[in-house]
Amino acid sequence: MADDVPFDKSFDLVPGTPKEVAPGVRALVANNPGPFTFKGTVSYILGRGKVAIVDPGPDDDAHIDALLDAVRGETVTHIFVTHTHRDHSPAVPKVKAATGAKVFAEGPHRLARPLHIGETRRLDASADMDFRPDVALADGETVSGDGWALEAVTTPGHTANHMAFALKEHDLLFAGDHVMAWSTTIVAPPDGAMSDYMTSLEKLARRSETTYLPGHGAPVRDAPRYVAFLIQHRHGREASILHRLGKGSADVPTIVKAVYIGLDPRLAGAAALSTLAHLEDLAARGIVATDGPPSITGTYRLTERPRAG
Ligand SMILES: [Zn+2]
Repeated sequence: MADDVPFDKSFDLVPGTPKEVAPGVRALVANNPGPFTFKGTVSYILGRGKVAIVDPGPDDDAHIDALLDAVRGETVTHIFVTHTHRDHSPAVPKVKAATGAKVFAEGPHRLARPLHIGETRRLDASADMDFRPDVALADGETVSGDGWALEAVTTPGHTANHMAFALKEHDLLFAGDHVMAWSTTIVAPPDGAMSDYMTSLEKLARRSETTYLPGHGAPVRDAPRYVAFLIQHRHGREASILHRLGKGSADVPTIVKAVYIGLDPRLAGAAALSTLAHLEDLAARGIVATDGPPSITGTYRLTERPRAG
């Protein structure tokens, strides 16, 4: 799937061994590889002497020990969290307890929209419901440390509280799971929302940073061009869904089968949720109709009214 996006699946980090991936930025991968996490979650250490940690990662003692080892002799003054999935934020309490650092993020985990009647949360186990930042950041706020300054960039879509951080004057952006070189991002309602995700991509496309450091996989190079590919990819996905519905009404599994060719079976659930995310967005725009609120069990059809594109 998605052979239109120039993915980069190279990766040379090894759990337990930090590596400098950009001037003044060290990366350390956790040993939690999987279909959603690629080779594992990447934590970043920003600065020297007095440092910040971006995304401490999962609650995994080996990773937390390696992270604390990597900053031995240094002072961790800040912890930044891009979003509250269990592979990014659950290490925060232990790292905070060991270092006394202050925790900065957009806010606690929350849904992108209220649950529908009878709806359960499909990816419930993936959210860190306990996370609370010490300081909640708004879009555009800057936090300064010793020799660095990070600008908060709200990027909802993957989660409602997703936040990227731009390293001022260094042409670098910590992108979390919003933009990754190895894969597209999972947008799964009700935690995620496609309309938010697209707005956040368009927001990044207008920014100047050319290198992104993501939550999984290798750095994103030529980032504005890559983000344009991601936007194009979603427009293509949307067109495929509309093409299938043009042949007649269909449920989510039928649409997934028509749209995702050669899908890794481990990603079938995620593909269904991504499709639901598109259908929610299309229904909100009046292009697609279903009975009741858009749901994973619903049947979808094109609306009667003429549409552009
Ligand atoms: Zn992640």
